Amino acid sequence: MSRPMVQGPAGVASASHGEASASARLDAWLSDRKQAGALFLDVDGTLLDIAESPTAVCVPRALCAALASLHRRLDGALALVSGRPLDDLDRLFAPLRLPACGVHGAQWRVHADKPLQHEAAALAAPVRERLQALARAQAGILSEDKGSSFALHYRTAPASGPALAAALHALLGEPENAGLRLLPGKMVFEVIAHGSDKAQAIRRFLEVAPFAGRRPLFIGDDLTDGPALALMPGLGGLALSVGRLLPGASAVFADPAEVRAALIRAAGG
Ligand SMILES: [Mg+2]
Repeated sequence: MSRPMVQGPAGVASASHGEASASARLDAWLSDRKQAGALFLDVDGTLLDIAESPTAVCVPRALCAALASLHRRLDGALALVSGRPLDDLDRLFAPLRLPACGVHGAQWRVHADKPLQHEAAALAAPVRERLQALARAQAGILSEDKGSSFALHYRTAPASGPALAAALHALLGEPENAGLRLLPGKMVFEVIAHGSDKAQAIRRFLEVAPFAGRRPLFIGDDLTDGPALALMPGLGGLALSVGRLLPGASAVFADPAEVRAALIRAAGG
C-alpha cells in the first residue's frame, strides 16, 4: 500500500489520516441503496499494469470475470474509458465486450452489443507522416497510429523525453497544426485531432440509458484522466486515482493490482 494503513473500529482498513481507503469507498459506492451507480474505468495504469509496449500488457482472467459480473450488477452501466482504440480494448478483454470510449473520447459505444457510435476525424496524413518521422529519428521511440490520435512512447528511451517534447511543441506551434493538442502521459506523448476528452466522454454516457440518473464513479491514474477525475465532485460522483492522489480524487489505490483486487472482491470473486 502506498500509505500506512490502520484497522478502524469496524475492522475496515483505512488510510492513516483517518479517511476511508479507496477500496472502502468503492465498496460503499457499490452498496449505496439510495442511488444506483455508473462505473467508469481507465484501463492502462488503472486496471492493467503498464508494460514496455501497449501490446505487452497482461489481462488477468479474474479481472474480466469481475468486470462482466459488475457490468450485469450495474444493469449495463459500466464503461471502459481509455486512450486505446475500441478494437484494441475488445481484443484485450475478449471475449468480454463492454460499453467503452476509446482514443480519449474520439470513439464510443454505450451498449456492448452496439457498433461504434461516434468517431472523430483522423489526423491529416502530412501530420502523421511527420510524427512517424519524429519517432524514427530517435532510437527507442515506439509510434502508435490510432487514426484520430498518434502516440509516441519513450518508455524504453526515457532520456529522449525532453527532446521529443520540444520537437512536438514546435510541430504543434505551426499555424496549420493549430487544431491539434498534445496530451502528455506516462512515458508517452499523444497528439490528438479533436477537442474531446474523457470528461466529455463520461458526460455523453450520463445523458443516456443505462447510465443516466446514476451516480458516477471514475477511477484513473494519469494526467489524461485529470478532466474526468475533476468532473466527478461536481456531478455528486466519486473519483479515485491510482498511484498518487490527483485533483478531484477522494482516495488513492496504490497500484493497478490493488484496483483489480478491490473489483474482484466487490464482484464476489
Ligand atoms: Mg491510465
